[in-house]
Amino acid sequence: MCSACETDNMYSTHDCYFTFQASLFTSSALTRSVNNMAGGTFCIVKAVMDHGVTHLKLSPNRDKESYAASDLDLTMSTAVNGRAVLYTRMGYKQGLIIGRSSFGQLKAYDLQCPNCDFNYELKWSSLYELTCDKCHRTYNINGSEGYVQSGEKGHNLAMYRYVDYNEFSGMLTVSNGP
Ligand SMILES: [Zn+2]
Repeated sequence: MCSACETDNMYSTHDCYFTFQASLFTSSALTRSVNNMAGGTFCIVKAVMDHGVTHLKLSPNRDKESYAASDLDLTMSTAVNGRAVLYTRMGYKQGLIIGRSSFGQLKAYDLQCPNCDFNYELKWSSLYELTCDKCHRTYNINGSEGYVQSGEKGHNLAMYRYVDYNEFSGMLTVSNGP
């Protein structure tokens, strides 16, 4: 970490641009997380390459048993409506946490621990908490800004500024710029 970066800005400036045509995957854990206007639903989204095909691996914060395997492991086409789609700009290591807070607000965080140089992936430890196995901090994602809930003080999770879900087009977008 550079010493000039000690001030935590509310939003990360790290490169991020993720689009997801949710209307093509209506029963997926990610679609259900952003569709739930009541809020309190989040989903870990990881892009993984397998034999040249991108899969989005999903891990919801609740009701995981209620999903079919195919709603947690999506095989992605490289084009939507004739436009190429890449999954290489999903934060530090192609992993995001996307969903709605219990106030219904859309949120997107990076999946890498901000206090371990974005080199350790977080895991669910309870409904609204993620844990880093390296530094043993837990982060709360339901309130504001992904703060450290337990463990040593430290940086909040990297949070991305624009999270847009258009119910009519069925397009979900996470990015750092308009
Ligand atoms: Zn950590």
